[in-house]
Amino acid sequence: MTVLTKPEVIDTIDELRNSLCLAKQNAAARGGDAHVVLVPTMGALHAGHRELVRRAVAVGDIVVVSVFVNPLQFGVNEDLDTYPRTLDADVAALAEEGAAFVFAPHAQEMYPDGASSTRLTAGAVGGLYEGAARPGHFDGMLTVVAKLLNIVEPDIAVFGQKDAQQVFLVERMVADLNLRVRIEVVPTVREDNGLARSSRNRNLDEPARTAARSLFVGLTAAAAAAHSGVPAAIVAAHAVIGAAPLVKLDYLVVVHPHTFLPVDDDYRGQARMLVAAVVGSTRLIDNISLDIP
Ligand code: AMP
Repeated sequence: MTVLTKPEVIDTIDELRNSLCLAKQNAAARGGDAHVVLVPTMGALHAGHRELVRRAVAVGDIVVVSVFVNPLQFGVNEDLDTYPRTLDADVAALAEEGAAFVFAPHAQEMYPDGASSTRLTAGAVGGLYEGAARPGHFDGMLTVVAKLLNIVEPDIAVFGQKDAQQVFLVERMVADLNLRVRIEVVPTVREDNGLARSSRNRNLDEPARTAARSLFVGLTAAAAAAHSGVPAAIVAAHAVIGAAPLVKLDYLVVVHPHTFLPVDDDYRGQARMLVAAVVGSTRLIDNISLDIP
């Protein structure tokens, strides 16, 4: 029988810093490495998050998973209040994956001055795609990620490719602000039918869950058509997603991996197709890499 070591659950910044300091001293006393890895999450953990934690355990020594539903990245009409909160189940899952610490602060601990506190700006790309649909979302996301990086001071932080625009903006923030952290990106974890795992999938009823699959099927069709160029890839995705019931497309775009701006029709090389749609009443996003020869 595997003996699970429950992670230490901490809700204050001071306590986390002290515990991390001790953990590093203990590791040094044992002559071991003490590379700290941070996995930022909003909880309601699923197989996608667990894969991030597995990567963290593989690349580092002391794994900190933050579970914080960050009010700063939710708009006024969004699902902040109804976002699933399942801390006990999250801690149990993290015990199985070998996380050492769960940092689960209250909003007051992270933002004692509330909405008036300092924020980062995600710049122009932060206003596109998800940022156009959710104004201020990426400013809030970068602000909390920067705070978490400063609190934990990890050597490595792990993010999921599922949120491609988030990965782009976090990597750019790390470069722009000369932060001393390496970003690891984990491929999107999917359900058996291809649907990207998401905490919001639990809001899908059966017809919506079936319809939601069209996002992945459309992206896969685009990747297969990409040898004929960007317009062919876009047409292929639209043909699938446009025909799906219950799916209200928000955006479908092919972006350059280095600028995250839309590519021209005659673009050739690596690119990424991004899609967002409201399926039933749940907003979902997904993306796929395109190789345009
Ligand atoms: P969230 O809790 O939704 O803020 O996500 C926390 C982290 O998990 C982010 O880096 C996400 O990109 C990542 N993540 C969420 N879903 C998946 C998935 N299906 N596959 C890989 N990573 C994911």
